Amino acid sequence: MNEYEINLKEVSLAYGNTEVVHRVSFGIKRGVFAGLVGPNGSGKSTIIKSLSRILEPVYGQISLRGQNIKNMKQKDLARLLAVVPQNAVVPSLFSAFEIVLMGRNPHKGFLSYEDEKDMSIVRDAMEKTDTWRFRDRRIHELSGGEIQSVVIARALTQDTDIIVLDEPTAALDVARQIEILNFLRGHCKERNKTIIAAIHDLNLAAHYCDRMILLKKGDVFMNDAPSKVITNENLSEVYGSGSYVYPHPLSGLPAVLPMVEGIFHSQEVIANLSDCAPSGLWLFWYLFRRALPRAIDQRLSAFIYAYFRAESP
Ligand code: ADP
Repeated sequence: MNEYEINLKEVSLAYGNTEVVHRVSFGIKRGVFAGLVGPNGSGKSTIIKSLSRILEPVYGQISLRGQNIKNMKQKDLARLLAVVPQNAVVPSLFSAFEIVLMGRNPHKGFLSYEDEKDMSIVRDAMEKTDTWRFRDRRIHELSGGEIQSVVIARALTQDTDIIVLDEPTAALDVARQIEILNFLRGHCKERNKTIIAAIHDLNLAAHYCDRMILLKKGDVFMNDAPSKVITNENLSEVYGSGSYVYPHPLSGLPAVLPMVEGIFHSQEVIANLSDCAPSGLWLFWYLFRRALPRAIDQRLSAFIYAYFRAESP
């Protein structure tokens, strides 16, 4: 029997005659939170669309729990897999509660009504995603971030073992991003759910995902633990220069910072810095940082991390 909950075997995906994903293979085991990462246009959303059957592979096979999704009935697929699309189109005249309640549809017969159990599942999902407070408001009265949270609540209400999300935190502020990802990770680990999410933000992906599938121009460049995937070498190969990887001072996981050398090369910025109080200190810090080789810089970060770890209980 196939041990993967989600398995892509040599999957190619195309829009019209243009192939954008080329014979991609990867498997995700049950209870794993996997992140699809990569530059704009590398194929993350396209792969997410293929998992929900919006786009059929032109080559290869996608299986969920060993079944080829091509042969699954729509209702069976919807009981196994819930999707949170990017910019979900939701009917604007419905209330947030009604939208979330729609997540129960795959579990209902043609003529059956929602019962107490359905209502309690909806309430639970809305409370966990902090959307219960605006349950009676119409969708068109909500902000982009609030709609995003409602769509996530709808997916949870579907009560599936697999959840697929396309940029689930794109419209959320930083506190909500962390709240939603904490919740999704907890949901994955406590209830043994399998989650695959396209995530643009490498720092968030590195901290929440068990595995990261790094895409480059429609190919899998690497599929491994975040600490193996997020390295200066890999990012420079896939994204080009422009970022720098440090160990996060508290978690030790890789953290990506933008390279700001271009800005600091500017005479204007240096002049502005020297106007700042305490200007001498700024200039000293700037020269100190420029003069240090990167290797020493990394050691400094590792030292700070070790210090904080020793301080924490
Ligand atoms: P990502 O999610 O990694 O940013 P996408 O999967 O959206 O990338 O896009 C992969 C490639 O497919 C890009 O070159 C993009 O221009 C192209 N593409 C995406 N959607 C469509 C579409 N509906 N029609 C034609 N080409 C598309």
